[in-house]
Amino acid sequence: MTVAFGRSVHDFEHPPDAAAAQLEVRMSEAVILSPPLPDGTDLQARLRFAPSEGRIWLDGQRMLLLHVESFGALRKELITSQGIAEARRLLTRMGYVSGLRDADMARRIRGDRSVIEAFHTGPQLHALEGIVQVEPVRMDIDLDSGRYFGEFLWHDSSEDSAHLSEYGIGDEPACWMQLGYASGYTTAFMGRPILYREVQCRSMGDRHCRIIGRPLEEWTDSDLTDADVAHFRDTDPKNQEENYLVGRSTAFRASVERIQRVSDTDTTVLILGETGVGKGRMAQLLHERSRRRSGPFVTLNCAAVPETLLEAELFGVMRGAYTGAVQSRPGKFERAHGGTLFLDEIGTMPLQAQAKLLRALQEREIERVGDTRTRHVDVRVVAATNVDLCQEVNEGRFRRDLYYRVNVFPVRLAALRERRDDIRPLVDHFLTVYAERSGRHIRGLTDRALSALLAYDFPGNIRELENMVERAVVLAGDGGRIDVQHLFDESIQGDARLLGISDSGTLEVPLPGGKPGSVSDLVGALLEEQLPFEELERRLLEAAVERADGNLSEAARVLGLSRPQVAYRLRKHRDG
Ligand code: ZN
Repeated sequence: MTVAFGRSVHDFEHPPDAAAAQLEVRMSEAVILSPPLPDGTDLQARLRFAPSEGRIWLDGQRMLLLHVESFGALRKELITSQGIAEARRLLTRMGYVSGLRDADMARRIRGDRSVIEAFHTGPQLHALEGIVQVEPVRMDIDLDSGRYFGEFLWHDSSEDSAHLSEYGIGDEPACWMQLGYASGYTTAFMGRPILYREVQCRSMGDRHCRIIGRPLEEWTDSDLTDADVAHFRDTDPKNQEENYLVGRSTAFRASVERIQRVSDTDTTVLILGETGVGKGRMAQLLHERSRRRSGPFVTLNCAAVPETLLEAELFGVMRGAYTGAVQSRPGKFERAHGGTLFLDEIGTMPLQAQAKLLRALQEREIERVGDTRTRHVDVRVVAATNVDLCQEVNEGRFRRDLYYRVNVFPVRLAALRERRDDIRPLVDHFLTVYAERSGRHIRGLTDRALSALLAYDFPGNIRELENMVERAVVLAGDGGRIDVQHLFDESIQGDARLLGISDSGTLEVPLPGGKPGSVSDLVGALLEEQLPFEELERRLLEAAVERADGNLSEAARVLGLSRPQVAYRLRKHRDG
């Protein structure tokens, strides 16, 4: 059986190659059974504007609304300063990365749809993002065998607009970034390198652009240059490193970079940040990146140990030192010998223990409680606190000399609300972890749930988000999708300050006293309430009359009815 998309190749005067003369294309079974392409409203619903925070979200990823002219200016600067080949590589690479991101979205949003529906997330996002309108011509796609062929038309490409206004019509195709997007998207979607070439382009005087995509190795007979494949290579060594911690926000990356800079020294590090931001994990990262990585990583939460026992915990104890010390044992310092000791909530440490800690840091020596023997320890200390240590010093609760000894290299971890760009990747991460742990299949998040997460302030930071996702996985049930009520108590719902796109394509304005919503949201809510139609009509009439201060003519005008019609219906409800 065969399927064709959109206009057939007949509509175009000059098919780019002999293969294009073939009008229809064989599809795998999954494709044949698929319904018509989705209209894209599921993707539009994931676009959210948060003007008060200066953010636009597309499925939890931060987006940018950019002037095509400014893109054109950047493009021109790149060509002038770097030369055509390097400018092309950079822009193709940029598109490639955004294609990879959008393929993630295809998996999340349409992972349970047919292959062709899932695949069209890419072309539809490319259009939604304002880059280009995509028309599929021919497709042959089979995920199991990895077979791929795709031919598409681009109408009125934005990159061509930027190019043409600077350079006019030339001999070479110019949709570099867009082509990179197609390659990145399809490569991630298929799980193997897929390369596109632009065989017709508006910048060469063609009516529209035509692109053809095939697996990279199937292009051997054609005239592929280095420039055609350069964007497959990631030249940033940092991106090739193992991903220890989840996050891509600037704030997060800056902290990780600071940790990396100090990791191979023996400098004492102080990690600052609110409860739940991941100070312990950052300390562990520091240890794993240090020369001490083969030594032990020992943790002590100073707030979790009773004051009277803290010294024994830290430095060890000799038998009979106090009632209950029935045998001698080493403390955390001794156990961390050759490795790293992480002291969490150091701000709660009593003054007497602080004096001993200072000595341990300065002299690299400790004495067990009740012992006279001095023991040498080789330990790197990483401390963390969620209080303002400077203030503790001023109020006499923390030794000034210890403060200076500990605060040699402070690293501040941002609160989650200050790095909202990381919410989506963190959610994905925890979702994978907890779905696997509970043996459940979860089909992702509803757009309402994601919007609510993006608007929430997370006083408990990453730990709170993690707990929410864990609970939501349980509540959503096997095969379910996580919705707002699985994540939040009722008291927190309705906090969303995000604006979506209405049916007419404008930004939604929040309804008075309520959440932002379009007419279709309202209808959906009413249907969910199972409000009888008669009751709905009665309430609507009464509300209109009340707003018009009892003036029936005014109420009728608002409702689009005549005054007698309003009067008649009101009477009907009153009598009925
Ligand atoms: Zn083009």
